[in-house]
Amino acid sequence: MIKASLRSHLTLWFAGLSLLTLLSVGFYVGHIATEQMKQASGNALLSTARSAAVLLGEQLRERQLEVYLLSRAPHLERGNLDNPAILTSMELRTRARAEYAWMGVVDAEGKVHQAVNGLLVGQSVQQRPWFQAGLRSEYTGDPHEAVLLAKLLPGLPNGEPLRFIDFAAPIHNAEGQVIGVLGAHAHWSWVTRIVDSAVSHKGAAADIEALIIDHDGKVLYPEALVGEQLPASDPKSQGWTVGNGFLTSMVTVPTPSSTALSWSIAVRQPLEAALQPARLLLYKLLLLGVVAAVVFGLVAYYLALYLSRPIEQLARSAKQVLNNHPGAHFQLQHPVREIAQLGQSIDAMTQSLLGKERELQEANASLEATVAQRTAALTQANAELLQLATHDALTGVFNRRRFDEKLTEYSLLFRRTGRPFALLLIDADHFKQINDSHGHAVGDEVLQQLALLIQSTTRTTDFVARYGGEEFAVLLPEIAKPDSPDTVAEKIRAAVAGAVFPVVGHLTVSIGVGLADPADNNQTALIKRADQQLYQAKAAGRNQVA
Ligand code: GH3
Ligand code: MG
Ligand code: MG
Repeated sequence: MIKASLRSHLTLWFAGLSLLTLLSVGFYVGHIATEQMKQASGNALLSTARSAAVLLGEQLRERQLEVYLLSRAPHLERGNLDNPAILTSMELRTRARAEYAWMGVVDAEGKVHQAVNGLLVGQSVQQRPWFQAGLRSEYTGDPHEAVLLAKLLPGLPNGEPLRFIDFAAPIHNAEGQVIGVLGAHAHWSWVTRIVDSAVSHKGAAADIEALIIDHDGKVLYPEALVGEQLPASDPKSQGWTVGNGFLTSMVTVPTPSSTALSWSIAVRQPLEAALQPARLLLYKLLLLGVVAAVVFGLVAYYLALYLSRPIEQLARSAKQVLNNHPGAHFQLQHPVREIAQLGQSIDAMTQSLLGKERELQEANASLEATVAQRTAALTQANAELLQLATHDALTGVFNRRRFDEKLTEYSLLFRRTGRPFALLLIDADHFKQINDSHGHAVGDEVLQQLALLIQSTTRTTDFVARYGGEEFAVLLPEIAKPDSPDTVAEKIRAAVAGAVFPVVGHLTVSIGVGLADPADNNQTALIKRADQQLYQAKAAGRNQVA
């Protein structure tokens, strides 16, 4: 799994949540707005349809009434269908009202007796439905194309066929018998104008359209939709329905009760157009949602930056500490309490850790120093031990033990190479008296000085040792001439005799010289010989070399 940073986590969550919230609010508000828009538009359509229907109903009723009143003219009641006064009345009506295309008096057989402008006079209209209906009662009919009048009247400017609606009323004589029919044709365009004018009043939406529907639900107007069946309106609806992509309101035209005419006015608007404002609102809300999400995302990004930067810094510094890189720094101050605490705690932990590490290093260093010190002391002690083991503590020359070893070594070497060596045994004369007269400590000092004197008189290659008490032994290796040991001995004797010792004054020594002999079985033979010589030197009066 990829571990995204705290920053991207926070940013994504903030932006996502705000987008989700605003989108759902947007869709919900959009939905409500759509419903309300539908309601408002439907109501507006309904009121338009109502006013159009009322207007049309009044006009139709007036025309019907006019025709009825003419049919009840006194001349006609008297049975005189050809009375010119009737024509005058009809001409007055038609001239006053441009909608009439034709008005005339027809006898019971269908023959036209009088007509405005003399149109169709003498012709038979017996087959016309308005005539047949008019014989029975008052009549207002559906629109139809001109049949007989088509050739007699000027056509419409747009080339459409002339269409009329017919009004008719029976003519009764005084006895109540039907003696004819008074008929009138009104231009269908008059009807449609009435409807259109009711719909296209000022302030009405341009895309609103009015339809005239007959009793079967078929469209009578406009021309382009004639014959189309309109879906019956839902009786449960509040006066408007949604269907075929239109919002439609249909109202029945209140027609004269005396006629069978049953029309409705439908006013409709494309749903798309009716809901346009709601849709715009929805789009605006969605846009707002996206913008808000971007803004929220940015705010979240900076907020996250503000929160995560110190944590990232802490993580980096902690890694630095882990990898032993120097310069790790922890932020101790931050407005967010927990972040500040975290920084302080890690800093304290790091300081304590580093402190412990330092202590450990120091302890190591001091341990090493101690070890080095102890090793040096040990080496020193060893050297001292070696010195003690091979040297005499009082005089500093080699001791008896070392002398024995050296003598053995020289003896072995002599036996192999044949090169001779000599032994001098030196004994202080009357030393007991020194101790007795001056004390043991002075005796010790004299012994020390004597050793130094013997050493300085001999070569460095000569071996000087304290043989015991106030006796010293000197081994002389590689003797060139046979008498040279005597010379060395004499030199020592003379040096001692010539020296002045503090407190004591003068002191003498007797020296016995022994030469290594190939006949010797062991080294004691040589010592014995040197000892004998020493005895002789003593016997000869001391301060002698023998
Ligand atoms: P001689 O001339 O016959 O050698 O006489 P001497 O007195 O030197 O010989 P002796 O053997 O009678 O006495 C040796 C004396 O040396 C005895 C002892 O007190 C003394 N002496 C031996 N070792 C030491 C020592 O280490 N320090 C001191 N102060 N005296 C010592
Ligand atoms: Mg002695
Ligand atoms: Mg002595």
